[in-house]
Amino acid sequence: MDCKTFEKMIPDFIDDKLEYAQLARFRDHYVSCQECREELAIQYLVREGMARLEEGSAFDLQKELDRHLDEARKKIAYNVGILKLGVVAEIAVMTVIGFGVMWILFH
Ligand SMILES: [Zn+2]
Repeated sequence: MDCKTFEKMIPDFIDDKLEYAQLARFRDHYVSCQECREELAIQYLVREGMARLEEGSAFDLQKELDRHLDEARKKIAYNVGILKLGVVAEIAVMTVIGFGVMWILFH
């Protein structure tokens, strides 16, 4: 993913609208690109900060952004886990079918 794509996805990230696959790519770029980390922090501060000012409530946005990113990380880890589970299940099914075919052929 390049920086331009990342920037375009920032609003969707903040609003929690990214699909898992997008989220994984988004986070990859976030981890590897200092400029985009700063860009995300700024946009987050601007978007969330404006909303909070209207509400008049106290806030620690850097902490909230960190939490947001941590949730993204968990979501990605969860999905990777599901995918791995799917592969294992598929292998198990193929093995059973394989044995079934051998049993039919050799009995
Ligand atoms: Zn970047």
